[in-house]
Amino acid sequence: MNETESLLSKKHIVVTGGSRGIGLAIVKECLLAGADVVYLSRTQSVEHGALEAMGGRVQWIETDVTSETSVDQSMDAAAAFLGSIDVLVNNAGITRDGLIFRMKTEQWNDPLRTNLTSAFLTCRKAARLMIQAKSGSIINITSIVGISGNGGQTNYAASKAGLIGFTKSLAKELASRGIRVNAIAPGFIDTEMTQKLKDEIKESLRVQIPLGRLGKPEDAAQAVVFLASDMASYITGHVLVVDGGLAM
Ligand code: NDP
Repeated sequence: MNETESLLSKKHIVVTGGSRGIGLAIVKECLLAGADVVYLSRTQSVEHGALEAMGGRVQWIETDVTSETSVDQSMDAAAAFLGSIDVLVNNAGITRDGLIFRMKTEQWNDPLRTNLTSAFLTCRKAARLMIQAKSGSIINITSIVGISGNGGQTNYAASKAGLIGFTKSLAKELASRGIRVNAIAPGFIDTEMTQKLKDEIKESLRVQIPLGRLGKPEDAAQAVVFLASDMASYITGHVLVVDGGLAM
C-alpha cells in the first residue's frame, strides 16, 4: 500500500451526490485512498461497477437530499453499512439560473433546499454519531460564487454563501467535540453542471483562469481527501478555494 492509498484507510465516508461529476470523483479518490464509501443520490452512478472493482467497500443508497425522511433513512442505513461515519461530504447541488425579475419562487427555493437545507439534514444526523465518537470531519462543497457572487445566480450564490456561514458556525459548535468542519469552494470545474454553458462563455472563463485551464473533478476531490485525512487535523472552519487562481 503506498502513501496515498493509506491516507484514508479505515475511514468510513458518506458523500452526497456521488453519482457523477465532482461527487463521483470524490467517491473514487476516497476509495483509492483506502476508505469505505457510501454515496447518496437519486440515481446510481453508471460507473458503479467500476467503483466496486476498485477494492474498497462501496454502496449506493437512493436518496433525495431535499427530503427529510429520505435523508434520515439513508444516513441511518449508511451508518449501519459502514459501522460509523467518520467523514461526511455534502456535495449534492443544483443550479437554477435566472434573472431576479423573472425568477419563480420555486426556482429560488430549489437550490436552497438541495444545496443548503440538505447539509443541515445530513449534519444533524452525522453530528450525533460523531459527538459520540468524539471525532469526525465534515466537508461542504460550496463555490467561489458564494464568495464573489455571480449575475443570474442569486439563488445559487445565496445557497453557497449560506453554506459557508453554516460551515464556520458548525466548526465553532463542534470543535470542542473533536469534529472538524471545512468547506471547499471550487471555481469552474468541467462537469455536467457546467457543460450547459455555451462554448464561448467557457472560453471567456478559461482565459481568466491564471492556471490556464478549467478544473477537473479530481482537482476538487483531491482537496476533499486532504481535508478528510489526519493530515488536516489542525484545520477547521476553513474555506479551501480550488479554482486555478480565478477568484484571486
Ligand atoms: P453535477 O450536476 O455533475 O452533479 C450533481 C450531483 O448532485 C449528482 O450526483 C446528483 O445526483 C446530485 N443531486 C442533485 N440533486 C439531488 C437530490 N435532490 N438528491 C440527491 N442528490 C442530488 O454537478 P457537479 O459535480 O458539477 O457539482 C457538484 C457540487 O459542486 C455541487 O454542490 C456544485 O454546486 C458544486 N460546484 C460545482 C462547480 C462546477 O464548476 N461544476 C463549481 C463550484 C461548485 P442525482 O441526479 O443522481 O440525484
